[in-house]
Amino acid sequence: MLCAMTRAMTRVFHRTLGRTLPVAVSGSGVTLRDADGKAYIDASGGAAVSCLGHGHPDVVAAMHAQIDKLSYAHTSFFTTEVAEELADTLVAGAPDGIGQVYFVSGGSEAIEAALKMARQYFVEIGQPERRHFVARRQSYHGNTLGALAVGGNAWRRAQFAPLLIDVAHVSPCYEYRDRGPDETPEAYGRRLVTELAVEIERLGPRNVIAFVAETVVGATSGALTPAPGYFRGVRELCDRHGILLILDEVMCGMGRTGTLHACEQEGISPDLLTIAKGLGGGYQPIGALLVQQRIVDAFARGSGFFQHGHTYLGHAVACAAALAVQRVITRDRLLEACTRRGEDLRASLTQRFGAHPHVGDIRGRGLFMAIELVADRAAKTPFEAKLKLHARVKQEAMARGLMVYPMGGTIDGRLGDHVLLAPPYIVTTQEIGQIVDRLGEAVDASIAALAGGSH
Ligand code: PLP
Repeated sequence: MLCAMTRAMTRVFHRTLGRTLPVAVSGSGVTLRDADGKAYIDASGGAAVSCLGHGHPDVVAAMHAQIDKLSYAHTSFFTTEVAEELADTLVAGAPDGIGQVYFVSGGSEAIEAALKMARQYFVEIGQPERRHFVARRQSYHGNTLGALAVGGNAWRRAQFAPLLIDVAHVSPCYEYRDRGPDETPEAYGRRLVTELAVEIERLGPRNVIAFVAETVVGATSGALTPAPGYFRGVRELCDRHGILLILDEVMCGMGRTGTLHACEQEGISPDLLTIAKGLGGGYQPIGALLVQQRIVDAFARGSGFFQHGHTYLGHAVACAAALAVQRVITRDRLLEACTRRGEDLRASLTQRFGAHPHVGDIRGRGLFMAIELVADRAAKTPFEAKLKLHARVKQEAMARGLMVYPMGGTIDGRLGDHVLLAPPYIVTTQEIGQIVDRLGEAVDASIAALAGGSH
């Protein structure tokens, strides 16, 4: 039998070298199993990917059917029925004004396409002087060079800095740490919009291509929701200067926060919207860039050609998987489930951690929640970075048959620890109870180990 130990002899260049990973062999519903038969509740959907859980029969059947018909046809020669149907479905559910969909194979590719499309748009309409992107610190937009450059996580960027395009970064929306004691959430949001306005003035408004932001920040800061009115202010500011707004909903989109797109809850529509993860639910690698019709029209009137492309754009099996995932979400009313189970999750987390001495904040929206861990709750002091508390929590959770998505560097890329939860939309109230119980044990065991000096 293939057991975890045989994989110590790996030829795979894993993310971390010298570690023995369990071998995943099967998945069903919210559960993954390894080669030793151990079961794990997937409370993070991997990295907020598996929105329908694992082995969903309808998605598997749709992929089989598509493979039997056609797996691949290069997009410079053909379109396919399934890509057209998926695009129709996505446009029908998209924010106001979105007219077309550019398919890619993941989140970073979606961001790269957005950056290049935004730049080329201004070339098409005769504003080639626009060359700057503005983004936010503590955001994550992917690991390819363009995406890494707009990303605002200092640690991820550091060693690649000489290769990155110059991007201006402004403050994240991080109420727990940055809102003043006498400041209302609305006033805090306005202050951040003013900061962005000052940065745009510094660069010269006619030199700026776009502002890039995650609607709800995911991996690097742990489910940071925007202050009320913040994105409306950002939208107005961008419009005033003819600057594009690129929203990155690779992680927070496609239903995770209870609406198909997180920006619906902000009352705004972006110019370009990136989606991935929950689009295909992990059944196939697929991402997409949703594009305002106005931008499509500019390309059509101009060169008629987007100077970009990859071999696997609009892959037929990936489109079939994504179409099936989206149909199940609609048929089974999973956006409502996301909201309701999200309330259960918040209530459970609040009950378990609301008075926990080392949990400073419980935040998020829908089935996209996080806890921020602190050494001192009153002073909001983080644990020392070298303790790598987040890594311990991940280990302790795995030992208890629980997958969560902890990360360090929450505050500035170095300091701070959070644990992100993003369970499948099909999770039950009872499973949420198990998730929070196991997480509670994992957090307590990790902190006890620090106190015991076993680091
Ligand atoms: N954008 C956001 C908000 C993400 O969370 C991620 C991945 O976590 C990406 C982009 C990059 O996506 P991918 O890893 O599919 O390239």
